[in-house]
Amino acid sequence: MTFKSAYFKLTLFYVLIVMIISAGFSVSIYQLASNELNRSLSQQILILRNLPGRDQNQPIPDFEELRLEQLIESNGHLKITLVYFNLLILILSTIASYFSAKKTLEPIEKAMEAQNRFTADASHELRTPLAALRTEIEVNLRDKKLNLNKSKALLKSNLEEIEKLETLSGALLKLARSQDDAQKNFQKVSLEDAVCEAYEKVDKLAAKKKIKFENKLKDVSVLGDRASLVELFIILLDNAIKYSPEKSKIAIEIKKEKNLALVKIKDRGCGISTDDLPFIFDRFYRADSSRCKVKTDGYGLGLSIAKQIIDLHDGKISVRSEDSEGSEFIVKLFHAKL
Ligand code: ADP
Repeated sequence: MTFKSAYFKLTLFYVLIVMIISAGFSVSIYQLASNELNRSLSQQILILRNLPGRDQNQPIPDFEELRLEQLIESNGHLKITLVYFNLLILILSTIASYFSAKKTLEPIEKAMEAQNRFTADASHELRTPLAALRTEIEVNLRDKKLNLNKSKALLKSNLEEIEKLETLSGALLKLARSQDDAQKNFQKVSLEDAVCEAYEKVDKLAAKKKIKFENKLKDVSVLGDRASLVELFIILLDNAIKYSPEKSKIAIEIKKEKNLALVKIKDRGCGISTDDLPFIFDRFYRADSSRCKVKTDGYGLGLSIAKQIIDLHDGKISVRSEDSEGSEFIVKLFHAKL
């Protein structure tokens, strides 16, 4: 509804500008043409009066009246032509303005829709742990036999929900973080160092699942925000570990190809189905986890944060995946020249 009235207002605004210009031109054209006609009539009369044998001050009644009528008629024609011309401009400019307004407002409407969807999804995700917290607390408060052990169990469960809320709000904050600020901190970053730093953050999880890493790391540098790049590799490595079975292998490769730096992270986990592949970088998108046989609790925000980081660095991220053959995420960034 708001956008419909915005389309209408913008169309009206465009039409108004075009009509002011067109009306201005029309008035000027009318004045110029009518002055010109007046001038040529006066000249004709002057020439006729100056003919030999004529008295200069004596008017030529029939001729002058006729020419005056012709002049008034011509002015009238000109006025009507200009009115028709302005009507045509009004119709054409209304059509053109409507399409221009649509073209101007469409990206804004889409961005607003995406923002609204995001807010609705975020509120929905925030409500679930909050509702669980509330129910648990209410049930326990009503329990007359609530003892120390039960209270401790309640607090432990509350803490888990709070941790979930912290993870979610942290992810939301990362998504909202100003891109300009990160761009200001661009410096030469060694991808090998960034991957190793990310690896240190997830190696406990890998050790728990007895996952082995096969690394082929080359020292390639890019121009970027170090903290964001570490975050990107944490997300990709964390996913690779999460969606891999125990005792499997994950391969990390860093290499240089022409002016690009490539980081490939390949797991031998459950893979991503072709139906899910186009959506995995969307906010809050989670593929059907039953296929994976691994229970994970995420919010479907990791890969959208990864995509945001890649966009910040003008890079590309792609994924190759075959069902139950594992997935390979490929990050492409422009390498920094020495
Ligand atoms: P989540 O918090 O659910 O992991 P992500 O945005 O990181 O959110 O990932 C979105 C979805 O993409 C996941 O729910 C999962 O289904 C799929 N996915 C991401 N990485 C992998 C992977 N390495 N192997 C299999 N599936 C993956």
